[in-house]
Amino acid sequence: MSESLVDQSRALAAEASDAVGKADSLAAIESLRVLYLGKKGRLAEMFRRLAELTGSEKSLAGSAVNTAKREIEEAIRSREEVLEAQARDARLSSETVDVSLPGRQPLRGRLHPITQVMDEIVGVFSALGFAVAEGPEVETDRYNFEALNFPLDHPARDMQDTFFLPGGLLLRTHTSPVQVRVMERLKPPIRIVAPGKVYRRDADVTHAPMFHQVEGFLVDREVSFADLKGVLSLFARTVFSPDVRVRFRPSFFPFVEPGAEMDIGCVLCGGKGCRVCGGSGWLEILGAGLIHPNVFRAVGYDPEETSGFAFGMGVERIAMLRYGIDDIRLFAENDLRFLHQF
Ligand SMILES: [Zn+2]
Repeated sequence: MSESLVDQSRALAAEASDAVGKADSLAAIESLRVLYLGKKGRLAEMFRRLAELTGSEKSLAGSAVNTAKREIEEAIRSREEVLEAQARDARLSSETVDVSLPGRQPLRGRLHPITQVMDEIVGVFSALGFAVAEGPEVETDRYNFEALNFPLDHPARDMQDTFFLPGGLLLRTHTSPVQVRVMERLKPPIRIVAPGKVYRRDADVTHAPMFHQVEGFLVDREVSFADLKGVLSLFARTVFSPDVRVRFRPSFFPFVEPGAEMDIGCVLCGGKGCRVCGGSGWLEILGAGLIHPNVFRAVGYDPEETSGFAFGMGVERIAMLRYGIDDIRLFAENDLRFLHQF
């Protein structure tokens, strides 16, 4: 009987080691632990039979059963270590970050080319001591036309050019109303630059119903046309190129006298003549002049004491000439392939 218990405990140890070696999960190990080492398990059964023995028989069999118990415990412990290490490796490899994968680039915003050019224009005049002023885009006839010396029958008041709104209001057709609003509030000397949106009933490749202007004016005593030419020539040299050629041609705007348009030597052909400059070698970039005495009267200034100059330019036109763009609508289409070039 004792021999059979010795043999059985060895067989049990071998069977258990074999089963534990094949276990492929920690859960499987746990059920083998219960089967062999549990309170009602196979080894517990052997210990119960051991209690029935006596003398040398008992000590021989006891040693064999205890050896079997240690072997099974050791088999379970080492198999558990292997399975835990495998589980840890699997978890780590599933959490691995592949640092060689290209990242997802967030789209970076940037200023619209019109904003960039407008900021640059304003910057040139700010450096000359001009302050920035803004005015409403919905205006009255008085600020948009009347105080700027537009006669009642001026074609700009026509339905063709101006967006009229209910209640005698309109969308301003130029930034010049800001002149009137500022002069009503302040006394000379004044140096102001006024950027903003303007609206006209007009649309083709070079005209948009909404576009941007920068208006500027300087009011003081004894301001002459030479001051105007000096300031605007400096502006053209800063924004286009230091050696750009400039010329002034007589022109007419109701709110200036005398009025002029400023041209620069064509930036595309260098003055030889091309499609953009219509073969003339010159590009018109702004309108200007000495402020009309009637404008001073409208804001309560004495035209005998006060003089000044004013100018206005289209920001889209300057940007188109600067970058060689031939369709104004590109600025409003929000095509990132276009906008990212600036
Ligand atoms: Zn040209």
